[in-house]
Amino acid sequence: MDASAHYLDNAATTKTCPEAAQAALDAMTERWGNPSSTHAAGREAKHLLDDCRKAVADALGAAPEEVVFTSCGTESDNWAILRGAAAGKRVGRHVISSLVEHDAVRRSLDALEAAGYEVTRLKPDATGAIPVQSVADALRPDTCLVSLMLVNNETGAVTDVRAVADAIRAAGSRALLHTDAVQGFRKVPFRAKTLGADLISVSGHKIHAVKGVGALYIRKGLRLDPFLVGGEQESGRRAGTEAMPQIAAFAAACRADPQTDRIAAMKASLTAGLTAAVPELVYLDTAAPHILNVSMPGWRSEVLMSFLESRGVYVSKSSACKQGKRSHVLEAIGMHSDVIDGALRIGLSRYNTEEDIDALVRGLADARGLAHR
Ligand code: PLP
Repeated sequence: MDASAHYLDNAATTKTCPEAAQAALDAMTERWGNPSSTHAAGREAKHLLDDCRKAVADALGAAPEEVVFTSCGTESDNWAILRGAAAGKRVGRHVISSLVEHDAVRRSLDALEAAGYEVTRLKPDATGAIPVQSVADALRPDTCLVSLMLVNNETGAVTDVRAVADAIRAAGSRALLHTDAVQGFRKVPFRAKTLGADLISVSGHKIHAVKGVGALYIRKGLRLDPFLVGGEQESGRRAGTEAMPQIAAFAAACRADPQTDRIAAMKASLTAGLTAAVPELVYLDTAAPHILNVSMPGWRSEVLMSFLESRGVYVSKSSACKQGKRSHVLEAIGMHSDVIDGALRIGLSRYNTEEDIDALVRGLADARGLAHR
């Protein structure tokens, strides 16, 4: 990517930080043994794997044995939902989730439905968060699983997962609680031990590690059948030789300072700059420090995106994996179709600067100026 580009699509993916790149290189060129081998090279790799698991567990606020490495956030979501529902089958076959989940969750829910489960998909509030009371109201004696994302990847809305866990407990429900924390990890503070979720999905490439690594937190004492079967890796919970370079990068990224306060300050200055420059701008006021969803009614997202790209500013329309399709999240919120069709998702990271913010504000102000000429 051109070094002068203003990359503001960090909810899609983030730049690998130097610490993570160095750790991956070291795992490929120095400590490249197979952690399952019993000789010295294997023991060295196993030692590295243990260190990495501890770093990710520390960042999650979990014990190392509660963290299993996966290939991505999608695998963690698929595993948690498909096997989580199976683990709760003695409780029943009713699942609660929402209309605003990522496709990794939505497709897993579709698969459960096809297998005979009943899925209740809750409506979000005006920002994309799920009201706790609606979860409490939807709980049934046969609810075996609740899956709700911590931070919405399109709007930055934060759902109070801790309160959802409390509501499940208060109702005497035996439902397992899964949260897709791919956008929340290292962005909004939480500790697995106190969040109250049984299963938590996270991904490396959203936090400046590399693509191709994720993790699933599995609460101590919960037995979840493997999703990948084969060898005895990851204490028999996930087969396949561990992707050591990616895992080492993930651990290094977890040790780096996430700089969330600085990112939140940039979001505040971006919101102030945009609302001053484009008074008719529609935006969602959400709690996540790194995601802002804005819309210029009367404009199409694609037109704005290419106008901005011609000035070296990269943003997106919705989730990258939707590849340009309409946002199901903004539809579920009930936004007007003009607003949905003009929506832009801005994703900030610690590598952004005020220059990036200025470039975006100037770009949208100029687009508006052209239209008003
Ligand atoms: N869940 C959410 C909320 C996401 O934003 C993403 C990625 O965009 C995923 C899951 C999937 O993660 P991965 O790209 O690591 O498969």
